[in-house]
Amino acid sequence: MVELKTDTSIDAMYEAGQVVARALTAVREAADVGVSLLELDALAHDVLRAAGATSPFLGYRPSFAPTPFPAVLCASVNDAIVHGIPTGYRLREGDLLSADFGAEVGGWVGDSAISFTVGTPRPADLRLIETAERALEAAVEAAVVGNRIGDIAHAIGSVCRSAGYGVPEDFGGHGIGRRMHEDPPVPNEGRPGRGLPLRHGMVLAIEPMVVASGRDDYHAAADGWTLRTNDGSRAAHVEHTVAITDSGPRILTAR
Ligand code: MG
Ligand code: MG
Repeated sequence: MVELKTDTSIDAMYEAGQVVARALTAVREAADVGVSLLELDALAHDVLRAAGATSPFLGYRPSFAPTPFPAVLCASVNDAIVHGIPTGYRLREGDLLSADFGAEVGGWVGDSAISFTVGTPRPADLRLIETAERALEAAVEAAVVGNRIGDIAHAIGSVCRSAGYGVPEDFGGHGIGRRMHEDPPVPNEGRPGRGLPLRHGMVLAIEPMVVASGRDDYHAAADGWTLRTNDGSRAAHVEHTVAITDSGPRILTAR
């Protein structure tokens, strides 16, 4: 069931979204060659504590997961698409990091992700990240009353596919509110004009993922969480929490 949020609730979700935005900005500023993923997780945790917020990621255990998620930040490097567990791995020259983060404030959750490179970037990585960001922009533009979920999905899929990239199967965005994952699912590919009509008060986490090789398949790493591309090619992942309103889409995790 899709729960529509009141304007007051959307304002409260914006507060959570802004904690997420601050944490991701801090992670991006701190990420550099030699910095470990655990150090970035600790930094993000500091931002949560300072804001009096809690983590919807820490201890999260969906049905596919063998263990509760042990961190507040997902840190996915290079061929990791999403759900990377922060480890002692130290970032290297040219790495591509996707950082996904959530915060809960006053019972409301925000969820957002960024991808960026460390040190001197590979041009191919910049194009990959730029495409994921363009897909997210197109999806937000499609997140208007009168459209349907399929219009958002189609906007994402067509930007990614026309650039020649893969779109990982079966993973995508979701409704969000008092819980991180609510109805409806927001696929990263779909048919325009199909699916649930978008209404004022729907809040969606929209999250394009792209794979450089053009392949869509992936596997879970030995930790049971990290999803990696099957051919080792690099992936990017970006996400915003977006409220659909009569006056247009409102990006609650805007940085
Ligand atoms: Mg996320
Ligand atoms: Mg999400």
